[in-house]
Amino acid sequence: MAGTEPLISVVAPVFDEGEGVDRFVRRLTEVFAILGVRHELVLVDDGSRDDSWRRVVDQAGHDPRVRGVRLSRNFGKEAAMLAGLEHAAGDAVIMIDADLQHPPAAIPEMLRRWRAGAHVVEAVKRNRPGQSVPARLAARLFNAGFTRLTTVELVNATDFRLLSRPAVDALLRLPEHSTFFRGTSSWIGFSRDTVEVEIDHRQGGASRWTFGGLCRLAVNGLTSFTSAPLHLVTLVGVGFAGFAVVLGVQTLVRWLRGGSVAGFPTVILVLLVMGTFILLGLGVIGEYLARIHEEVRGRPRYLVQERTGAGAEQVSPVPGQRADRAPH
Ligand code: UDP
Ligand code: MG
Repeated sequence: MAGTEPLISVVAPVFDEGEGVDRFVRRLTEVFAILGVRHELVLVDDGSRDDSWRRVVDQAGHDPRVRGVRLSRNFGKEAAMLAGLEHAAGDAVIMIDADLQHPPAAIPEMLRRWRAGAHVVEAVKRNRPGQSVPARLAARLFNAGFTRLTTVELVNATDFRLLSRPAVDALLRLPEHSTFFRGTSSWIGFSRDTVEVEIDHRQGGASRWTFGGLCRLAVNGLTSFTSAPLHLVTLVGVGFAGFAVVLGVQTLVRWLRGGSVAGFPTVILVLLVMGTFILLGLGVIGEYLARIHEEVRGRPRYLVQERTGAGAEQVSPVPGQRADRAPH
């Protein structure tokens, strides 16, 4: 009976994907046609400046299983994914990029693992096409550092993952303003499984990530998962205190003995080192302060301009708004 068959939601953030939207819908429809499971496709337009939204509306017009959510501006991929999660109705939700870099062919295997009892099925990448050597190195360094500091496994992690309904509900209970999906979807726990995938080259368009955007994501991820950098500042401070005592005593002794203390080079070096550390330390504190500020403001994480497709009217009027906190 169709009514009791589980519903699978596929959620994809869309930002300036143009004709990629049609390609994506076509590809997923193919995959699900073969699978023969009930599904819905939730496309979240993250304030695209091209005709992506018109294409989403068209697709939703042709196929009642396609739904669209249009954010009022570009809120970033993390917010778009969250919007999608909040709008998805399925018993399992699959998060996937709309640019087809995440191979939809892995979906049947993810569903198998889910049916076998996994609540979170992560796709881990075997390869990283189109990434320069420095970018790869930076990603590896960050992921290794993050994993060490937070015990959340990030190495080769992708945003391509399946979450069961209980896992989605758990994730949506996290109140943070700046989310880091890869981190939070691991942090919630639940029985998990992984499938290995080959990341494809982007089909059309270019990656939306800028260097600055990636840095923000890294800082967001770190500040939301660990206060280790703050402790590091303290530690380095303690180290400097020890150094200061040794150097101070040595300088004093030499001065009392009438020996000359090396002049400007020492002073300049010490000033530079100290200055750098103080500014870095302030920066670290500033990042945490900025996060607290953002969280305290408690603004909605995204705003919806319009929706399209079946059930568009039924969704609550202000999604993204935390139910447990009134806006300031
Ligand atoms: N995306 C988005 N908002 C943004 C940037 C990207 O919704 O501000 C979407 C984009 O449409 C794609 C996915 O996030 O579906 C991944 O983006 P991209 O391919 O640029 O990132 P990469 O694959 O390089 O990590
Ligand atoms: Mg991509």
